[in-house]
Amino acid sequence: MSDKISQIKPGKLILIGCGPGSADLLTLRAVNRIQNVDLVLYDRLVDQEVLDLIPSDVEQTYVGKENGDGGVQQSSLNNTILENLKKGKRVARLKSGDPMVFGRAAEEIEVAAEVNAEVEIVPGVTAALAAASESIITVTERSELQSFIVTTGKAADRNSSPDWSNIVKPGVCVAFYMGVGSAWKIQSSLMAAGVPENASADWVERAGQTDTRIVRSSLGRLANDSKVHNVKNPAILLVRYPYSLQNQQSVSSSTKTLG
Ligand code: SAH
Repeated sequence: MSDKISQIKPGKLILIGCGPGSADLLTLRAVNRIQNVDLVLYDRLVDQEVLDLIPSDVEQTYVGKENGDGGVQQSSLNNTILENLKKGKRVARLKSGDPMVFGRAAEEIEVAAEVNAEVEIVPGVTAALAAASESIITVTERSELQSFIVTTGKAADRNSSPDWSNIVKPGVCVAFYMGVGSAWKIQSSLMAAGVPENASADWVERAGQTDTRIVRSSLGRLANDSKVHNVKNPAILLVRYPYSLQNQQSVSSSTKTLG
């Protein structure tokens, strides 16, 4: 029996970016792949509208895991992927947004490599860009914002914070994923690094979904506004530090020095 299994051609792992929620933000390729696999593995951030596209004869398994809430652990998920690839199955792993952005894709690609299974990645609309569209915020802007950076509000190691002071510079827009709960840390660390308090800092909850909500704030008010408006996951924080703010700041600090 085990000999027979080892002779089977390994299956294929398809990591499918499902975008921020609504099914009409899926790519045509994502829809095609969802409908042509043997098994679909999905987690909590994948919307029901997307799951409704899975044909009824395709096996579906919930592998929810978010914020260490006791869902299926990555190691047991990797095992499920491995076992099914060994059986020659075409396994679709549905990921919210884009698989390559905070999607733990690397670990799953490694699992496929263990059995020499083919891997395909289907890109999706990542949450930061859905949030930018939802709130009509450009993440780059001629002469004002020349870099767009994505980062996390939470380090993989719970006891440390990511170092944002080196990335939020004049001319940069930063999207914070997993930032709910870190508003105060983000505010204090960026202000300590010299980012002006009037830099815009806007939350977009449930971007790309029908019940999205935008909370517009600024760096100086971020922690307070996040609390008052009870910002909840999933949400993206977009902080913009355009060059013109730096110029304003240096004018006002030189006025202060002169005065
Ligand atoms: N691969 C995903 C990111 C997964 S990490 C992507 O490319 O979008 C999970 C984080 O993504 C959440 O904590 C939240 O910050 C963000 N997120 C996911 N879906 C979102 C949505 N619809 N609206 C706002 N933020 C979202």
